[in-house]
Amino acid sequence: MKTDWDIIVTGGGPAGFFAAIRCAELNPNLKVLILEKAKQTLSKVIVSGGGRCNVTHACFDPARLVTFYPRGANELRGAFTRFQPQDAVAWFESRGVKLKTEADGRIFPVTDDSNTIADCLRSAATSAGVEVWEHARLGKVDRNRDGSFQLTVQTLRDVFTRLHAGKLLLATGSDRATLDIAKSLGHTVIDPVPSLFTFNVRDERIKGLEGVSVASVSLKMDSLTARGALLITHWGLSGPAVLRLSAWGARELYEKNYRFEMTINWLDEYSFEKALDVLQRNKAWKDNARKKLSSHAAFSQIPLRLWKQLVEFIGDKNWADVSKDELRKLAKELTTGKFTIHGKGIFKEEFVTCGGVTLKEVDFKTMESRVIKGLFFAGEILDIDGVTGGFNFQASWTTGWIAGNALGDLG
Ligand SMILES: Cc1cc2nc3c(=O)[nH]c(=O)nc-3n(C[C@H](O)[C@H](O)[C@H](O)COP(=O)(O)OP(=O)(O)OC[C@H]3O[C@@H](n4cnc5c(N)ncnc54)[C@H](O)[C@@H]3O)c2cc1C
Repeated sequence: MKTDWDIIVTGGGPAGFFAAIRCAELNPNLKVLILEKAKQTLSKVIVSGGGRCNVTHACFDPARLVTFYPRGANELRGAFTRFQPQDAVAWFESRGVKLKTEADGRIFPVTDDSNTIADCLRSAATSAGVEVWEHARLGKVDRNRDGSFQLTVQTLRDVFTRLHAGKLLLATGSDRATLDIAKSLGHTVIDPVPSLFTFNVRDERIKGLEGVSVASVSLKMDSLTARGALLITHWGLSGPAVLRLSAWGARELYEKNYRFEMTINWLDEYSFEKALDVLQRNKAWKDNARKKLSSHAAFSQIPLRLWKQLVEFIGDKNWADVSKDELRKLAKELTTGKFTIHGKGIFKEEFVTCGGVTLKEVDFKTMESRVIKGLFFAGEILDIDGVTGGFNFQASWTTGWIAGNALGDLG
């Protein structure tokens, strides 16, 4: 077993693979090792995007791209000018992986199979001469006098191995034990908390409506707002608008123990006055006089099943019998309905953490630590996270590629 390596990449996820492949391709003389604690590498890639792997997003303007990152936008701005979604697409396509862009901008392999991406990364690593050890957990890192690293690695059957690395890249995602190693090396770690989750809601207004969706709503919690589609689930609320609010409010919602009040504007950007005006016109319409409020939704964007439950708020009756005050109450309910969130659900297709190694301690031109020379970071171990849509993998490709460039440039 070799114990001396030029570069050890800890973490066989997308960021670690990208960095290892890049530096080994740039400098074939380097001995590069990936350590992966699990029995197989790239496990998140395989489960990602509901098994389809949403590789990246068709947003090719770095200035716009960073707006999808609640944390890391400033640092990623320059990084995306070096490696952005277009480069990621080219990287995979040059290795024979055909990609497709869906209507909402998400990019997937045409096979709709995440194994296509994992296989491509594994085979690129093998071709570049990168060695991969599975069942190899980094336990401890000591720094040698010459600036190199001594790693204690736990392999199968609790065998501990000492490895020597000229340079070390930590790309272990949100693994807490490795964050502690980063702390022990002098880095500041922002406590990781979940991002991208759904909301648990028990409320008569949405009871029995699981599967109903509204194309565009706006949500508000304190100073946070989010817009987008909303999906009613068995447990409460999901969909892009909810996921966005969960991402932008990750820390605030954690501090509230995921119990908070949120308002929903079911009519997206309609004001109270505009909603009231539509309701008044419906009431004034002769044909409606003897029709029940619940018989047709006054707003085409609200599905009838949901509308029926929302109008129960003032009690179903003929349009002719609805008072002015009731119309105002309904307009208020439609534009600022208050909902109590009882907890956090899961979003099976994607899940990331907010928090990690603080960004000001990392040079984003190289991904090298500003605290310890020779130590690098890439991927989710950093305090970076994006909203859903392929942005999280893109952060891993970009930071992995930049780290790989710097690591490969050893001469
Ligand atoms: C269910 C799910 C679906 C997702 N779908 C998408 C999607 O479609 N698109 C998207 O953009 N993002 C998606 N994400 C987010 C995306 O997977 C992550 O942002 C991304 O995987 C982060 O890459 P990484 O390499 O930094 O970390 P990881 O993928 O977490 O990889 C880190 C690796 O390091 C290993 N490791 C940890 N500690 C040690 C140690 N001490 N020693 C050795 N190895 C260690 C881990 O086992 C792991 O294999 C999804 C996430 C989840 C959970």
